[in-house]
Amino acid sequence: MVDFATLKDDFPILSQQVNGKRLCYLDSAASSQKPQAVLEALQAAYGETYANVHRGLHYLSEASTDAYEAVRQKVAGLINAPSPNEVIFTSGATMSLNLIAQCWGSANLSSGDEILITIAEHHANIVPWQMIAERTGAKLVAAPMGADGEYDDEAFSALITERTKVISIPHVSNVLGTVFPLKNISKKARSVGALFVVDGCQGVVHMPVDVQEIDCDFYVFSGHKLYGPSGIGVCWGKHDILSDMPPFLGGGDMIDDVEIERSTYADVPARFEAGTPPIAECIGLGAAIDYVQSIGMAEIHAHEQNLIRYGMQRLSEVEGLNFIGTAAGKSGVISFTLDEVHPHDISTLIDHEGVAIRAGHHCAQPLMKSLGLSSTARASVGLYNSADDFDVLVNALHKVNRIFKS
Ligand code: PLP
Repeated sequence: MVDFATLKDDFPILSQQVNGKRLCYLDSAASSQKPQAVLEALQAAYGETYANVHRGLHYLSEASTDAYEAVRQKVAGLINAPSPNEVIFTSGATMSLNLIAQCWGSANLSSGDEILITIAEHHANIVPWQMIAERTGAKLVAAPMGADGEYDDEAFSALITERTKVISIPHVSNVLGTVFPLKNISKKARSVGALFVVDGCQGVVHMPVDVQEIDCDFYVFSGHKLYGPSGIGVCWGKHDILSDMPPFLGGGDMIDDVEIERSTYADVPARFEAGTPPIAECIGLGAAIDYVQSIGMAEIHAHEQNLIRYGMQRLSEVEGLNFIGTAAGKSGVISFTLDEVHPHDISTLIDHEGVAIRAGHHCAQPLMKSLGLSSTARASVGLYNSADDFDVLVNALHKVNRIFKS
């Protein structure tokens, strides 16, 4: 049995006081804090094994390459990928989605084709598709969400046609917390032969992921939301699909043979990893994966689901609070507004109480516009949060209401 109450102690940053109050960090959906094990892995990557990877024949280069390459296996294990060679390291989910849109899209999309997303996407799963749609003449189509922020199967299915060439959706909405029925959507994608891409940024951090069971073609995420460093991310894709894709960036390490007239390219995954990669960050991500797996993703999921239920219940006591997104089984985030108080004011005022939440459009402007809002406040959880973090948040919100009423 994991004692979640003690896990906070693994995260040095969480022991500090902010504005004279205990730090209550409820902003993990934006970026999570790092456990001591990740800080130590970063220190060791620079202090003990650092050299460039894949290109040296000396001891340090080999040690660094081994440590870097070992992380591919850890990522494959985390998401049950069939092979570590299907794991491409990127700078984050944004780069992963740009890579898929540019490389797969440029080779496979043409005028009249459709790319289906939802209105609830993060900009990282909108703009790259817009860019490739503009270049190829394809059309970007966005399905609406249900009234409570739930996935609307009827509305989504109605937009799937023989023209649909890509379906790209989040595992979990970063604003609504809605968990998408991936296996169900995968079947719909298969029925029309569409590529199925999952933006797993807010999924892999909260629950077990099995890309073979989901039967998606791509699953992407960012290391910094999974208790790892920033600057490292993952683009997992099926080997056959990756092998048919042209490279994204050209440069060192992604080639087979270079002549002035032309070059041939390395096999996957090297083909998509041009240049010196974020070596220490990747090793740090490996330590983060070891850390969450030592706790267990199923255990983390159960703990966080309890927290979200508790948080919703406690927050409903706050006068004038409106939830944005109440889908059953929602995960990770609780977005809300307060009558009469701008979300930015909420965030600034509760910061005086040591509470860190996010306020803004959450890089989801189309969703905000569809809801008639410019921004929301958002509390989001990580494995280190506990029920008393929501008690502190609720007390801070009562105080905000008192200030605005006086
Ligand atoms: N997709 C979702 C659902 C997200 O929540 C985020 C970040 O908030 C991203 C994509 C982009 O991630 P990054 O900025 O790490 O590339």
